Amino acid sequence: MTETLPGLLLRLSEAGDPAILWGRQAAPHAGRDFERLLDRGVLIEQAPTAEWDVCPACDCGLDARPVQQVNGQHLAVCPTDRRSDVVLGDDDLRSFRIDPSALVREIAAASGFGDEPSPVAACVWHLGQTSGQRSLFLALSRDAVRQPGMIGLMRSVARSLPVTVIAPAMAANDQARLADAGISVVSMEACLGDNAAGFAIDLSTLEAAAAFEPRLVIFRQGKRVILDGIERHIPQQPFKLLVVLAEAVGGRSGYLTPHQIEAENSGRGTADLVRELRRFLSEGRQGSGADLIKTRRSPTGYFLALAPGEFDLQP
Ligand SMILES: [Zn+2]
Repeated sequence: MTETLPGLLLRLSEAGDPAILWGRQAAPHAGRDFERLLDRGVLIEQAPTAEWDVCPACDCGLDARPVQQVNGQHLAVCPTDRRSDVVLGDDDLRSFRIDPSALVREIAAASGFGDEPSPVAACVWHLGQTSGQRSLFLALSRDAVRQPGMIGLMRSVARSLPVTVIAPAMAANDQARLADAGISVVSMEACLGDNAAGFAIDLSTLEAAAAFEPRLVIFRQGKRVILDGIERHIPQQPFKLLVVLAEAVGGRSGYLTPHQIEAENSGRGTADLVRELRRFLSEGRQGSGADLIKTRRSPTGYFLALAPGEFDLQP
């Protein structure tokens, strides 16, 4: 058994309500923790199933085949071929609906968030405030986080606090869009993953994730730059310079010579161009962005003073 019970319930909940846990999936998790979830209404046992999947490559034309009781046994009957009948055990017939609100309440309580989690939108709850002064949300599905207006909604609930949302692992572009808006996303796996029985969030992963948010995000195609959560409007030439400097990070020398920069920019003076880039990076904020572009001596060169993890160069 590799997946924990909390991990299994969260994974099944991603598909939305109603999420069903089948008896066969539940069987390895039988025990006190499982009974407790039934008592607390996180799992609600359904009536024994009356339908079963049709056999693979069957030509019966049914969506589901009926379950019948024959000689004290439960059979999933194939209407075209008796040899394809399946004998079902008790675990096959059982199923449990996962109550999403009760599941989130369980997680909140186990993680020390005393109050009832408040629903923000379908599949999204506000859990409360972390000790690191972040407003913490939990989304059971990816789509819930991606729905229009979600970013604004979470920010308004958080008031002025920075936002962290726990959600199923997001695609890189969605994650970047949220990071743009200053929202830190932590995957459920990272903070709830290998907790054998408990539903407690590992709060240390939240702070760690927030600390590793990239300071600088560059979108090459969209020609957009977000620095410290604020969009900077950078004209074509200095933007191009920023991209090549970012590309040079982690490369052989890590910097560009004035000669290389001039070659990239049809002969425009390097010092002038670097000055312009620094000005646009620090726009509106005293000094915060200008020192990202550093000068080195012998040989002279320019480099982006960020480690590979501190910025994100998007296609
Ligand atoms: Zn069949």
